[in-house]
Amino acid sequence: MIRFSGVVKKFGDHVVLDELDFTVAPGEFVSLIGPSGSGKTTILRLLMTLEKVNGGTIHVGGECLSHVRRGERRVPADEKHLRVMRRRIGMVFQQFNLFPNMNVLRNITEAPVRSLGLAPAEAEQRARELLGLVGLEDKADAHPTRLSGGQQQRVAIARALAMRPDVLLLDEVTSALDPELVADVLRVLRDIATTTDITILCVTHEMQFAQDVSDRVMMFDHGRVLEDAVPEKLFTAPEHERTKEFLRAVI
Ligand code: ADP
Repeated sequence: MIRFSGVVKKFGDHVVLDELDFTVAPGEFVSLIGPSGSGKTTILRLLMTLEKVNGGTIHVGGECLSHVRRGERRVPADEKHLRVMRRRIGMVFQQFNLFPNMNVLRNITEAPVRSLGLAPAEAEQRARELLGLVGLEDKADAHPTRLSGGQQQRVAIARALAMRPDVLLLDEVTSALDPELVADVLRVLRDIATTTDITILCVTHEMQFAQDVSDRVMMFDHGRVLEDAVPEKLFTAPEHERTKEFLRAVI
């Protein structure tokens, strides 16, 4: 579902991703862990086409993000291609970014109606199902500002899923929450991981969560994958000293 091949990303002279290679299979839940500044968020931003690679290629669902074929030639992707690719990818951020002027239901139906062209009634039915999935069926008419941070984040998750993406990107989705609200959001993500076939790439500091739900965990350091293993292996018998040191510091 996701393939990074020799991906290089620089900001000025600073090489943030250094010939990065990895793949994520359809339906996999992969957590990205590692010290701050190691390039994890940059990976998600590249997938969202919020940044461009300086080298290498990224494929999503077999299609290149940055280039399209024109007959024999490969040319840079136009805005239309980027729009189509972006639709296949949903993202939930640390800050929930709900539309403050719309109720919960409208927050979820807005994009499917506007950009997928779904009939409002169909979008609403789907939104109510998703609110059920995130445990907020009784909040459809509520205003986002009346909800707790954890509830707002669950609406943001429902909103991302409403676009029926192939891939869901989660960037530190519990970091801005009060500790007592974290568990509800993690429970919802666990349900989504186990009941849907969506592919999930999750940047997280919640090591217990990463250990419990991930199919694979990738440990990053300085823009490289230091270790890529099933959670049982990575958390209990890491190979690299740097991974051991990192885990000691965060667990
Ligand atoms: P992580 O998510 O692992 O904390 P990031 O991907 O956010 O790491 O950042 C990796 C490195 O890239 C950091 O050194 C950061 O300062 C740098 N960086 C990220 N975005 C930008 C940007 N827009 N301009 C300049 N440097 C950036």
